[in-house]
Amino acid sequence: KETAANNSAAADKISEHRPTVICVYIEHTGGVMNESSYEAIGAARSLTGESDSFKIAAIIAGNGSRQLAGEVMRCGVDEIWLLDLDWLPFYAEDVLTRIIADVLARRQPDIFLGGATEHGRSLFPRIAAKLGTGLCADCTDLSLEPVTRRLIITRPALGGGVLARIVIPHHSPQMATLKERVFPRADRSGHPAGMILDFSDEYPVMQSVYTLGKRILQEGKRFKLGQADSIVAVGRGIGTAANLPLIHKLAGTIGAEIGATRPLIDEGWLEASRQIGQTGVIVKPSLYIACGISGALQHTVGMDKSEMIIAINSDAGAPIFQYADYGIVGDLFRVIPEFIHCIESG
Ligand code: FAD
Repeated sequence: KETAANNSAAADKISEHRPTVICVYIEHTGGVMNESSYEAIGAARSLTGESDSFKIAAIIAGNGSRQLAGEVMRCGVDEIWLLDLDWLPFYAEDVLTRIIADVLARRQPDIFLGGATEHGRSLFPRIAAKLGTGLCADCTDLSLEPVTRRLIITRPALGGGVLARIVIPHHSPQMATLKERVFPRADRSGHPAGMILDFSDEYPVMQSVYTLGKRILQEGKRFKLGQADSIVAVGRGIGTAANLPLIHKLAGTIGAEIGATRPLIDEGWLEASRQIGQTGVIVKPSLYIACGISGALQHTVGMDKSEMIIAINSDAGAPIFQYADYGIVGDLFRVIPEFIHCIESG
């Protein structure tokens, strides 16, 4: 209380100048506000008191931000700097860093505060480095030097043996992360009467780069049948999807991947990345076993370069046998269990 009173008195003396802007980072998960954010607003309010020569702003960034604006204003925030980016999850800290640093550079707050949470501990040093400013982490008390309005920060030092008082000289914004459960929680009794500055549409390039990067990563992780060394391929001879476990069992026994003809993909029995042929993947494994596949040209163009081809088909006239190194004429429901048995018994 004393600190707030001192600050207010000092603030009145210099109220003819631009208001001191304290910006608070609102940490949230998809629109659910984190407790540390209430505390950061509470800390900012205890610095400003009731003086109108201060302004409290809040950055709300990432997916689900817009829905939080009213709640943040009710806590006594005058201005929201909104980055409602539905493409950006809160944990994408590298992208958040660049966008938040850019907004801070444009708005030039004097002080930037946030919770010393896991997220805050990762995000704030990055932002400080980007802006070339100082950061004091894990603060337990804040006050303002009355004339210069530099932050005076208290934090434990030397393993908690002493309480250090730190001033961040000559840098702006002065940044600090606040130890959790130390600062008063902002009460949310106010009216949501602040102003929203919406920056949400101002980072299209960042959005494109981020979403493209994500797609490239997903592509990289996607299963690639073309790289498989051995493949058990299954065709319409399997009858129904309920019979596919037999094919999985054979593939598992020999450590092979599963491929398929197009009709099975069209039925939705297997994912499209497993289709072999003209409109699917071209494969060239060292072992290819065709189970219940007729050998239509559109399929064989995708597998005829395989090193060893084994075909199982109940029709001795099936074209697939023309490509096979070894052909087994028979019912796959009898042949495959025998096959598995032979392999398992060595
Ligand atoms: P089928 O031709 O019906 O053959 C089933 C086989 O199973 C038969 O030979 C039968 O004797 C045998 N069988 C039945 N029961 C048993 C049993 N119990 N035991 C053992 N054998 C049994 N197809 C692809 O695969 N890949 C492609 O990329 C592709 N691209 C296409 C593009 C175009 C533009 C078009 C028009 C078609 C394309 N097709 C493609 C489809 C292709 O023409 C064939 O229709 C398809 O390959 C046939 O699949 P299949 O061998 O599983 O079925």
